[in-house]
Amino acid sequence: MTTHLDPDPPEPRSSRHGARSLTRSEPRAAIIPWSASLLPTGSPFGWSARDRSSYVQFLTALLMIIVTASFVLLDGWPFLLERPRNEAALRTTNLLAITVTVFWIGLYLWTRRWHRNHVNGFSWLLFGTLAAHIITGTAVCYAIGPYSAASGLIMVAAILIGMVLLDRRSFWMAVIGWFVSMLAMHFGSKAGWLPFLSLFEASLEQPLLSKVAAERAVAAALIYVPLAIVMDHLVSVWRRDERSLHEAAQLDSLTGAYTRGFAMEVMQRVLTRARNENKRFAVLMLDLDHFKRINDAHGHARGDVVLQHTTRAVQSTLRADDIVGRFGGEEFVVVLPGADLQQAMGAAQRCRVAVESMEIPGAPYLAVTASVGVAAFPDHGQDLDTLLKASDRAMYIAKANGRNRVESARAEKLGGRYV
Ligand code: GH3
Ligand code: MG
Ligand code: MG
Repeated sequence: MTTHLDPDPPEPRSSRHGARSLTRSEPRAAIIPWSASLLPTGSPFGWSARDRSSYVQFLTALLMIIVTASFVLLDGWPFLLERPRNEAALRTTNLLAITVTVFWIGLYLWTRRWHRNHVNGFSWLLFGTLAAHIITGTAVCYAIGPYSAASGLIMVAAILIGMVLLDRRSFWMAVIGWFVSMLAMHFGSKAGWLPFLSLFEASLEQPLLSKVAAERAVAAALIYVPLAIVMDHLVSVWRRDERSLHEAAQLDSLTGAYTRGFAMEVMQRVLTRARNENKRFAVLMLDLDHFKRINDAHGHARGDVVLQHTTRAVQSTLRADDIVGRFGGEEFVVVLPGADLQQAMGAAQRCRVAVESMEIPGAPYLAVTASVGVAAFPDHGQDLDTLLKASDRAMYIAKANGRNRVESARAEKLGGRYV
């Protein structure tokens, strides 16, 4: 594993959805890497990040409208049967419900506009939405009564939405946020800082804080945590299956590297993200040297084995988020998200050395080498086409300079002196 890249920033999955580099053989980690959203796989129902965000915002607004309507129209349901003794507290609760609803509708409308202008950042938005929903939802639920059916339904709905739509790490953070906010509301009310106490004195009659805490812990342990764990498991299995099906379709059948089309798709995503987040990334173009001679001398079948070993050798030098695609016959492209030119040159050298050190079964003396061209964003191009051309030209410079070497596109830029 190389260490030449900074870890990707947190980005929930939406994607959150899995360590998806096809280049990896290890099973993915229990917690999905943030960078997973770079790859277009694993979203439930094939939803895009945009779809997921919209659904969460929509469902959140809907839930809040239902809660508000139940308060305003039914005048304090679920207190229909027994009106609360404290009218002021009921008014405060109504006000809270209306404020929360207005806030959510406003956020929903604002984010719809925001979506149109931003390709990335959905995942954070999604996480923020759900976390805020769980927290404000808790506030409203608390006002209704901690054990009411409505609060249970809202929490279950939030957990289900989160499980299906968020990546697991973000979801668990949101659940912890909810739990902390619930405890804060509870103790705040008991301490008299919040006005809800009189609405549900029965559930707060415990004089001892420790007993109250035990009550809360039991409720969480019996209902929400087991539900969250089961959902977490089901969704992770579901996504793994979905991902492997999707990924299988994107693999080159001979080498197991990404197909050219899929590598292009991934590169476009990486480029868009690098542009929006002001980040770097680099592309390596790797071509085997005198491969025709290898085919001629050792046969096509052994040539195929060389291609398979080359893929594995290159993959073994890269970190998990790097992508290897088979671009043509014996030409490979490597995408290094987050890498600057210097880091990419290091990665390219490691790839070159890995190819040079390969041992081909049945042909121990077969020497295989590769020439590698390196182009970095934004140094050598602002769009994919320019970057690929730059890396391709750099690769041909490496060929012209004697093969089995690495050249950067920058050398070409500097007045054509290929140093
Ligand atoms: P250079 O160092 O200039 O790259 O020389 P080269 O011989 O590698 O150049 P060229 O790109 O012309 O040759 C590529 C060869 O790769 C030609 C083709 O027969 C062979 N090739 C392409 N695809 C496959 C494949 O799937 N299996 C095998 N065994 N050979 C392939
Ligand atoms: Mg070649
Ligand atoms: Mg070639």
